[in-house]
Amino acid sequence: MLKKIIIAIDGPAGSGKSTLAKKIAEKLGFMYLDTGAMYRAITAEAIKNNTVDDINNVIKISRNADLRLFPRNGKTEVFINGRDVTTEIRSIEVSSKVSEVSVIPEVREELVRMQRLIAADQNVVVEGRDTTTVVFPNADIKVFLKADIEKRAERRLKDFNEMKAGLNISDIKKNIIKRDKIDSEREVSPLKKAKDAIEIDTSNITVDEELDIILKKVKEIKSVEN
Ligand code: C5P
Repeated sequence: MLKKIIIAIDGPAGSGKSTLAKKIAEKLGFMYLDTGAMYRAITAEAIKNNTVDDINNVIKISRNADLRLFPRNGKTEVFINGRDVTTEIRSIEVSSKVSEVSVIPEVREELVRMQRLIAADQNVVVEGRDTTTVVFPNADIKVFLKADIEKRAERRLKDFNEMKAGLNISDIKKNIIKRDKIDSEREVSPLKKAKDAIEIDTSNITVDEELDIILKKVKEIKSVEN
């Protein structure tokens, strides 16, 4: 049996991880795993329970959560404890709290365990902040995406506009900068480029060009296996 391939993509908010990961998954028929959606779902549940600032409660939610992800029509539908939170997890309320939830080591431990289980024995494209360094340090292909802050904020603004959230670019920029800081300075599993990751600056290249880089790498792996 051919060995399963793991492609892991990390990078800051708005660097283009989801767009690229979905494209790869679609092209190669791999499973797509959005780990950020899992941190967002825990955050949404804690906000709903009015306990998002209570660490012990957030830990409890993460340990007891029935968290399910269903890839459908190019997007991931997310359910927590039977509740569909697909839209809610993209709100500015969740976006502004999620990095604080993500610093909690016990929450990370729980979600990393689930991520490894979900990906077991599958060809998978996974994206997040620590997928190349902590979740899958032996991934076959590791990618670190970056882009300048203007481009990243524009991309997020487009997402929020599609949700008719009525936000402006300066609010979004503030949220991204705050999240980048917390995500890269936290003690446990900070966002950083793995030594052996391919770095791609997505500011000025197309998704198809990014995809080509990855497909070449996949070909290299397969030719070594054959
Ligand atoms: O990728 P996305 O922007 O949806 O991630 C939301 C937040 O979840 C990040 O800002 C980060 O705080 C957290 N996260 C994380 N580790 C991951 C994926 C996301 O800490 N692997």
